[in-house]
Amino acid sequence: MSSAPHGPAATAADPHKPSNFLRQIIENDLAQGTYAERHWGGSPGDAAHHAQGPLDPAPVRLRFPPEPNGYLHVGHAKSICLNFGLARDYGGVCHLRFDDTNPEKEDTEYVDSIIDSVRWLGFSWDADGTAHLYQASDYFDFMYRAAEYLVQAGHAYVDEQSADEMRANRGDFGKPGTDSPFRTRTPDENLARLREMRDGKLADGAAVLRAKIDMASPNINMRDPAIYRIRRATHHNTGDRWCIYPMYTYAHPIEDALEQITHSVCTLEFEDQRPFYDWLLERLAEGGLLQAPPPRQYEFARLNLTYVITSKRKLAQLVNEGRVSGWDDPRMPTIVGLRRRGYTAEAIQLFAERIGVTKSDSWIDYSTLEGSLRDTLDATAERAMAVLDPVKLVITNWDALHGAGTLDDCSAPVNPHDPAQGKRALRFGKELWIERTDYEDVPPKGFFRLYPPQTAADGTAKPGNRVRLKYGHVVQCTGAVRDADGRLTEVHAELVPDTKSGTPGADAIKVKGVITWVGVHEAVPAEVRLYERLFSDPQPDAGGKDFLSSLNPDSLRTVQAYLEPSLAQATPDQRFQFERHGYFVADRRDHQATRPVFNRTTSLKDSWGK
Ligand code: ATP
Ligand code: MG
Repeated sequence: MSSAPHGPAATAADPHKPSNFLRQIIENDLAQGTYAERHWGGSPGDAAHHAQGPLDPAPVRLRFPPEPNGYLHVGHAKSICLNFGLARDYGGVCHLRFDDTNPEKEDTEYVDSIIDSVRWLGFSWDADGTAHLYQASDYFDFMYRAAEYLVQAGHAYVDEQSADEMRANRGDFGKPGTDSPFRTRTPDENLARLREMRDGKLADGAAVLRAKIDMASPNINMRDPAIYRIRRATHHNTGDRWCIYPMYTYAHPIEDALEQITHSVCTLEFEDQRPFYDWLLERLAEGGLLQAPPPRQYEFARLNLTYVITSKRKLAQLVNEGRVSGWDDPRMPTIVGLRRRGYTAEAIQLFAERIGVTKSDSWIDYSTLEGSLRDTLDATAERAMAVLDPVKLVITNWDALHGAGTLDDCSAPVNPHDPAQGKRALRFGKELWIERTDYEDVPPKGFFRLYPPQTAADGTAKPGNRVRLKYGHVVQCTGAVRDADGRLTEVHAELVPDTKSGTPGADAIKVKGVITWVGVHEAVPAEVRLYERLFSDPQPDAGGKDFLSSLNPDSLRTVQAYLEPSLAQATPDQRFQFERHGYFVADRRDHQATRPVFNRTTSLKDSWGK
């Protein structure tokens, strides 16, 4: 049996998945049995905890470790698809871990939205009857115990230099650092002092615990990095229990090890931290605190997307300064924003697959994201006609041909790629809404839509143009009406008999233009929000640029549109292709049956025939 391209558990041999360096590393580890002897204690824990459990049922464990200090964005989506995707493809598990060791910036509002976003993207942290949802702050006790072990083993010391002295003594790229005068304290002295730190006997900033490695290392991160600091701050999980908190670079490897992560995948800026990651886990395994072999860290290039910023701090600024309506504003690159804009989880997964993973930074063109959306929606989205800039078309011979007040039933496919989705009903009549731009008094070159009879410079007469009203009849333009200000108020045309779509001989009259319409008698009025990119600069914040200076003032334009009657039944989050215009979604916050509101997700790639 052949496997389906979107099957649930693609394997290493799946020909549909392009390989990448991470897949090769994992496949190599699986072949060598690198992690085959690990035990799993059923929950995160130290070496003793895991040792009493069975062999780990998960061949690989990965994690996605967001800091709950903001909403997730499209860059995080890349990391989520990567980590959860690798776990799925190799029959393993991916943990969702809140990296909440920094007490100051974190909030449960963000925790909830992160859980929601990862689920919405289509991933799960449940495996073997366990929800692998963890928070790093639950590991504070172990982290402190590990710190005492490092002190006792002579691998860490309490430094009481001032911050300025510490900075000066660190050296720089060309200059080795200088040992702190506190570096030679005995383990007993250090242990006593560390306990005083923990017990609140020292002021904030009066001392730090540092790993004792090498002040002359060419890698500055190895020059006795700080691992604990004193900070009297209330933590959202542990309250006021601690007045010392671990540094991120110390906490992160320990979190991975307690959770038995095999492949710890992070972005390139952590490459220089890898030697410390390895040093720390080797020391703690030596001491018997953590099970061997330790997790390994691998780095990939973060996502840079043109016209988009992905710094949580800067996104927060857009929200806080009211430049957008909130974290879920459809122009925001947050997952909640993309979702409200009309993106599907499937499109974002496809995008992540298409951009792949590499080890060098680059910019991805925004069109790659939009293209992934179009490619997934084309086959599924229901079609509908909508007139976004309406002007009335009057069929002046309708009453004579069909009788006053009559309507003519027409039908259109719900999705032309999928006849099983059935038909939608439309009624043609004397008055129809059409796009204002579908009429010209004098046609520019290549304009094949509505224009009245013309007289050329040499006196030759040309008849008014014929177009097909899609799924309806062919009409011939006879003229137009303008108001005192010259604004177009009506377009006039005559129906060409025997041209109704789908009837025999309908194609006998050839036309070059096909336009969309909505019957005046059945039009559903709606608010339609037309979004453009939020920034006009393709790299809004590159090189420290002021991203606010390239905010696009026209990123949102709201129009009053008319929609075909089938859209009266639309429900929030339902997606459509408005023929000729693009993909639209019923707004998940504001759409109501009595007051429809649609967002433009993206335009169609190809512009409609002239
Ligand atoms: P910030 O520094 O703005 O707070 P962050 O990138 O550090 O954001 P985290 O919550 O720490 O945010 O990120 C969680 C995970 O998402 C990390 O493993 C990080 O590597 C990954 N990640 C964040 N941004 C991107 C990006 N643009 N592309 C790929 N992965 C990313
Ligand atoms: Mg971070």
